[in-house]
Amino acid sequence: MKASVGGYARATDLRHALDLLAASDGMGRVLAGGQSLIAALNMRLSSGDLLIDINSIDALKGVSLDGNRLRIGALTRHAEIANDPLVAQHAPLLRKATDLIAHAAIRNRGTIGGALAHADPAAEFPACILALDATIHVEGPDGPRDIPASDFFVDVFVTTINDGEILTAISLPMAEAEERQVIHELARRSGDYALAGVCLVRRAAGHRIVCISVGPRPELATAAMARLDAGDTDGAVAALRDALDPPSDTQATAAYRRHLVGVLLHRAIADLNGETA
Ligand SMILES: Cc1cc2nc3c(=O)[nH]c(=O)nc-3n(C[C@H](O)[C@H](O)[C@H](O)COP(=O)(O)OP(=O)(O)OC[C@H]3O[C@@H](n4cnc5c(N)ncnc54)[C@H](O)[C@@H]3O)c2cc1C
Repeated sequence: MKASVGGYARATDLRHALDLLAASDGMGRVLAGGQSLIAALNMRLSSGDLLIDINSIDALKGVSLDGNRLRIGALTRHAEIANDPLVAQHAPLLRKATDLIAHAAIRNRGTIGGALAHADPAAEFPACILALDATIHVEGPDGPRDIPASDFFVDVFVTTINDGEILTAISLPMAEAEERQVIHELARRSGDYALAGVCLVRRAAGHRIVCISVGPRPELATAAMARLDAGDTDGAVAALRDALDPPSDTQATAAYRRHLVGVLLHRAIADLNGETA
């Protein structure tokens, strides 16, 4: 089945995109890479939408340094993140995550802004940016707004972006000299969404752990982080399993996912320490 859309407009700049959204009477849908949106439209999950194509807006593209933070434009594609030297140096977790996202064709079109706005709890970037303590920058009719990653994800496919707002960029602290960032996940086949995954960051202030595909939204695993800060690996794994209430679905049972995150955390810790699990 093919999409039933109400119209298409190519925005020339951010102001134009915001004006189109404001005039769309609630039917405007921002079109970035289209890798999730077009699939949803093809399944007729909604119809009559006005597609507002932001792909020509250069101000939303690219990676740069902004003071002591790394800034990644919303329209930066997964494949660009995979190959960007600034990302590799200052946010290696995002670079590693791109190896685990879908297939080359999807990575060539999909954007980080689209992945975050889509807020699929099985996706890698939402968990990564929370683990990295990023800030999400949005712009709307009332001007720009900065949202900490910890306040951004609300539920499956739900964020705190308001109607009429567009995600413009994310920014994140540059990795410290001794910082380590790893991601481990298990998928049935290479390129599939993960059955479960773990992002682990170790910086001077302590560890940060965020899981993938184990709940409606990415969350910091604070109890496990405290155990790991205390040097208690087994305690961290037990705390992580205790804290989670993962879903059962056709891919995996809740019990299997709970077991799996413990295995993945063990692997991530070993990776962090330069060992093999
Ligand atoms: C077969 C397949 C396998 C996939 N596997 C994975 C995987 O393993 N891991 C993974 O993480 N992802 C996976 N994806 C999703 C892929 O990464 C998508 O690219 C991503 O989720 C959406 O990015 P997009 O740029 O294509 O957004 P779009 O599809 O264009 O948009 C997605 C949603 O976000 C909104 N939106 C987009 N950009 C903005 C913005 N700047 N401001 C406000 N709202 C915005 C849109 O209106 C829409 O609601 C897969 C997709 C497919 C088709």
